[in-house]
Amino acid sequence: MSVIETLELFEQKRPQQLLDMKLDELEVYVQSLGQPKFRGKQIFAWLHQQRVTSVDEMTNLPQKFREQLQEVAAVTTMKEVTRQESVDGTIKWLWELYDGSTIETVLMRHEYGNSVCVSSQVGCRMGCTFCASTLGGLVRHLSGGEIVEQLLNVQRFLDVDNERVSSVVLMGSGEPLENYDAAMKFVDLINDPNGLGIGARHITVSTVGLVPAIRRLADEKRQITLAISLHATRDEIRSAMMPINKAYSIDQLLDACKYYFKQTGRRISFEYALVGGKNDDIEHARELAGLIGHMDCHVNLIPVNYVPERNYTRTPKDQIRAFVNELTRLGVNATVRREKGHDIAAACGQLRAEQGRN
Ligand code: SAH
Repeated sequence: MSVIETLELFEQKRPQQLLDMKLDELEVYVQSLGQPKFRGKQIFAWLHQQRVTSVDEMTNLPQKFREQLQEVAAVTTMKEVTRQESVDGTIKWLWELYDGSTIETVLMRHEYGNSVCVSSQVGCRMGCTFCASTLGGLVRHLSGGEIVEQLLNVQRFLDVDNERVSSVVLMGSGEPLENYDAAMKFVDLINDPNGLGIGARHITVSTVGLVPAIRRLADEKRQITLAISLHATRDEIRSAMMPINKAYSIDQLLDACKYYFKQTGRRISFEYALVGGKNDDIEHARELAGLIGHMDCHVNLIPVNYVPERNYTRTPKDQIRAFVNELTRLGVNATVRREKGHDIAAACGQLRAEQGRN
């Protein structure tokens, strides 16, 4: 079977996912099924506020319409394969999607609230040498609805204890800005006050640095936080760690970041994974300050996490401290990210599209 035929088969199998539609799209959709527009809002509330898992539970819809809807559309499209809980309370889910592919989602519990890390693609093709998500390449993009469904599943889990998701990070597997439309649909869907109503300022999109997409996002003037996976201060080091740097240099990337700040007024968050002997020298801290010291930004230092296929070493604790202190001394806002879920391979760079390899 050719690739095209296989793709067509997938498309045929893909159900009309109700979660893929924003409120206005849902209103048009119900009208195309011969229903009044207000049914759209009813369904939207059932999905995002009551968080039902079947059309059957949407009790204010006429029985006949429910039957019709059941035949043409789906409320849920993924099922839980495993759920692992870390000693620190972090929970990681592995979901199987309608086509058999799998993704992971992580819930982190902090004193200040619950934050959820969602995946934007099955696998990833960015090829960063330290990350597990990219080992098997890109399988496919997720739809906006599939990204939302991860979050709704976690919120449903928290509903039992009357808890809420307070912040969301697009930092699971995949490059969200390569799947731009779905990522933004996700943001719009969870933003909607008729649904989860999660404010833009509580949503972070992380990118390897797709410069044209960063500029496009800047022009949309959303209030979301942009996180940049920087990880190095010199092009030769960054290109060796992150192939994307061969397409967009550090200079080009930082120019785009400045543009993002100019357009949105939001300070940039830089991720910097400290990799033993590669980018963790005090000299690199100084170079980093030189590069971004004048920007309104924050640096998250992440001691590199263990990925079995890679043999990177972690920076010793006092060297990490010296690195942060140097940044602070030079006026850069920097903190060391407290790692969550290490024991269940749920920390940064450890998420995959497969089971049982962690
Ligand atoms: N593709 C996007 C979204 C993924 S976010 C991006 O790269 O930004 C996941 C974050 O974890 C990124 O900052 C990534 O660089 C970082 N990361 C990947 N592997 C890691 C590892 N082994 N240790 C620490 N951080 C890692």
